[in-house]
Amino acid sequence: MPVINSIAGFAEDMKAWRRHLHANPELGFDCHDTASFIVERLREFGVDEIHQGIAKTGVVAIIEGRGRHRGGIVGLRADMDALPIEESTGAEHASTRAGKMHACGHDGHTTMLLGAARHLAETRNFSGKVALIFQPAEEAGGGANVMVQEGMLDSFGIGQVYALHNAPGYPAGHFATGPGPVLAGDDIFHIHITGVGGHAAHPDETRDPVMAAVGIAQALQTIVSRNIYGRDEMVLSLTQIHTGSSDNIIPEKAYLNGTVRTFDPLVQDRVEARMHEIVAGQAAAYGVEAVLDYARGYPPTINDPEKSAFAAEVARSVAGEDNVTYREDRSMGAEDFAFMLQERPGAYMLIGQGEGAGLHQPGYDFNDEIAPVGASYFVRLVETAQPLEG
Ligand SMILES: [Zn+2]
Ligand SMILES: [Zn+2]
Repeated sequence: MPVINSIAGFAEDMKAWRRHLHANPELGFDCHDTASFIVERLREFGVDEIHQGIAKTGVVAIIEGRGRHRGGIVGLRADMDALPIEESTGAEHASTRAGKMHACGHDGHTTMLLGAARHLAETRNFSGKVALIFQPAEEAGGGANVMVQEGMLDSFGIGQVYALHNAPGYPAGHFATGPGPVLAGDDIFHIHITGVGGHAAHPDETRDPVMAAVGIAQALQTIVSRNIYGRDEMVLSLTQIHTGSSDNIIPEKAYLNGTVRTFDPLVQDRVEARMHEIVAGQAAAYGVEAVLDYARGYPPTINDPEKSAFAAEVARSVAGEDNVTYREDRSMGAEDFAFMLQERPGAYMLIGQGEGAGLHQPGYDFNDEIAPVGASYFVRLVETAQPLEG
């Protein structure tokens, strides 16, 4: 596998960084220690500019190449945040922070981008500049959106954006991407039902929110089967129903919560409208009040056709023809890199990390062996998109 030699040469350093980050996970926008660690490494590498405090703890590093580059520069993005999970790996480098863990491999993503930074700062075999984006709050909070809202893409002249996510269950070092939508939009709904509680022996004197919750839960399932065109992919998952406290009391309130995953804004509009109609209709039928709060979360992650083909070509140059899959393929998962792809063309790429526990599981751990491969991909993206002249 033609991993860049100098990067292979500091694979042990990358492993040490990754394990340090893994042992010290931070959540959401509170990635202070992670950002400090990143800034220390970037200073050692001699990058040209370090901008801190974007989206609270986000960091953008600028490395200058040689000569001019016309047009927007490449932005490479790594996420930094961990998850509220108690780690069960028993690894030597396991989390030292109770209830927090890098169960999505963002420690590995940060490490791969640091590896790329070290090589790019040493060699500078590209024209113009490159922006390395270290982003907090991917798992919740939409840190990518906050960085975009704070003007990051414009102020650094970023014209195209790329991100890399590890994929358990795919062969280690195998890349996969495709044109168009690759991950779903992620909406969240809350339904608050208010009826009239009372004695369970006298239901006729109540307006039962339990039956209304059941009615709404079942009716919502007809949206996918009855209201959405058969070829439009969509998931509606009801994930919480909370109500009641005793066998002899009909409660006053019930609460339902869940997520809607779609790829098309028109489908999203249709689902939201139907949910309002169904909730209102069911509430009327059961004689209760019900309020639907439907919030648009992360938008679908949509790769630019040309940039995703380019990213696949670059991946082939690193991993070889047989180790890159390029085809239309969608997952119902979601990713806030979508906000950057709404503003700039680019591509979201997966890198296999072999067998083992899946993402967001307490036994998950990033595979250090793929870090030099991912770092080489990041470097080649820059060198190929912004080649030296002559
Ligand atoms: Zn995750
Ligand atoms: Zn992730």
